[in-house]
Amino acid sequence: MTTTHHTPDLFALSEIRGPVLRPGDDGYAEEVTGFNLAALHTPDVVVVAAGADDVVTALRWASATGTPVAVQATGHGANFPIDHGLLISTARMTDVRVDPEQRTATVAAGAKWRDVLAASAPHGLVPLNGTSTDAGAIGYTVGGGLPVLGRTYGYATDLVRSFQVVTPEGLLRETDPTREPELFWALRGGKGNVGVVTSMVTELLPLRTVLGGGLYYPGEHAEAVLTAWAEWIRTVPEEMCSAFAVLRLPPIPQLPEPVRGGFWARVAVTWTKDPAEGGELLQPIRSAAPVSVDWVREMPYTDVDSIYMEPQDPLPGRESCSLLRELTPDAIRAFLGQVGPAVPDCPLLAAQLRHMGGALSRPARTDDAICARDAAHLLEAVAVLASPPEAEAVERATASLHSAMSPYGTGRTMVNIHGTPGDAADRARAWTPEVQDRLRRVKETYDPSNLLRFGHTV
Ligand SMILES: Cc1cc2nc3c(=O)[nH]c(=O)nc-3n(C[C@H](O)[C@H](O)[C@H](O)COP(=O)(O)OP(=O)(O)OC[C@H]3O[C@@H](n4cnc5c(N)ncnc54)[C@H](O)[C@@H]3O)c2cc1C
Repeated sequence: MTTTHHTPDLFALSEIRGPVLRPGDDGYAEEVTGFNLAALHTPDVVVVAAGADDVVTALRWASATGTPVAVQATGHGANFPIDHGLLISTARMTDVRVDPEQRTATVAAGAKWRDVLAASAPHGLVPLNGTSTDAGAIGYTVGGGLPVLGRTYGYATDLVRSFQVVTPEGLLRETDPTREPELFWALRGGKGNVGVVTSMVTELLPLRTVLGGGLYYPGEHAEAVLTAWAEWIRTVPEEMCSAFAVLRLPPIPQLPEPVRGGFWARVAVTWTKDPAEGGELLQPIRSAAPVSVDWVREMPYTDVDSIYMEPQDPLPGRESCSLLRELTPDAIRAFLGQVGPAVPDCPLLAAQLRHMGGALSRPARTDDAICARDAAHLLEAVAVLASPPEAEAVERATASLHSAMSPYGTGRTMVNIHGTPGDAADRARAWTPEVQDRLRRVKETYDPSNLLRFGHTV
């Protein structure tokens, strides 16, 4: 353990079991650097928590000294710099315990979905992870958690039975629909506003295999494919989950040869029922245009990362999102006018439309803070920020895409995929005014000094 005593008020932190690091200490740079390299974190002190007790001590110290607090598990959501204060790293808290009888997993704060899947799949059970199992289960879930299988099973938060959470004054609390219900409500869609979760109990789903994968068409066919997809999704049952994307893939060895370096229109699908039935349902999409690469096959759910092929290595990324209420022919024209084949210098790696609806539109079993149930689609844009001029072009293209699609939008975003939080008005796009007011009231109760003030806060 590295303990530092540069200032007297850090003394309390010497009780911490995990490393406590200050700028310049060995391991500091590695500890603050997460998956997304776009935001450079330079906190005054990092507590690498070995367990919930360390989170309690760290928050007691922060509360006593009035130090602002941020939390990081993997850095998939590192869209804003943590440039002062205390960073609690949960990256070492990766324990996952599966109860196959109850079909639940107890997931510690730093576990990735990949860890949960590895522990649950041998029992024929799976979690509601998103498009990359490299993301942290807790950070994703407190932001609502839009799963690959969302249309079929709903949001990841819908499966949470309880959270163990440390609130900023340093109190470890158990919360569920009956114990501190407002706290439980706020932790399901309200992101990291009210406390640092140390673990959650989430239900798992009985599932072993899916029909899934990507259909890749030459990008020139984007209009034909998107038009066909927009028609097709109106007809499919909830067990068919899919997304349309325009991809400009870099020529990097991490990508498989047939798609590497290409300009593609892609439909990614996941179907949880009979594969033969799913294959028949896919027929109109497979014949929408000539398919160059057809990776749709029956596969173990543990291969889920191959469906969306999200990057697995750290990179400086810029993501953004808007929720759409409709995908009319005008909306399709507007989308392709920004990212289609007629815009060869478009700097976006991916512009994707995820099909929502189904279970994603139904009310939660227990009221939560998710404000995306009225959306028919989620539009997300992703780019790699390789150089400053490129970053400027990305900002322009991102703003232009969301502005062009705003006539078809609900006016909101999903907090998990919102990307860099802007001013208060921009952050407010993640929640309705009513949900925001309620979140503020919960925050006044549990974090009256606003110690958790980084990022997507109310
Ligand atoms: C490649 C990729 C694919 C993705 N796919 C999806 C998807 O399909 N669906 C979806 O919904 N999202 C998706 N996301 C977004 C992802 O859910 C968010 O980035 C999420 O914040 C990741 O959580 P993390 O803990 O890994 O990230 P971190 O950067 O470590 O944390 C991000 C934020 O989560 C909160 N947080 C983390 N840990 C805790 C804790 N213990 N207690 C309280 N708050 C905490 C904090 O607000 C923190 O600032 C994706 C992101 C990437 C990069």
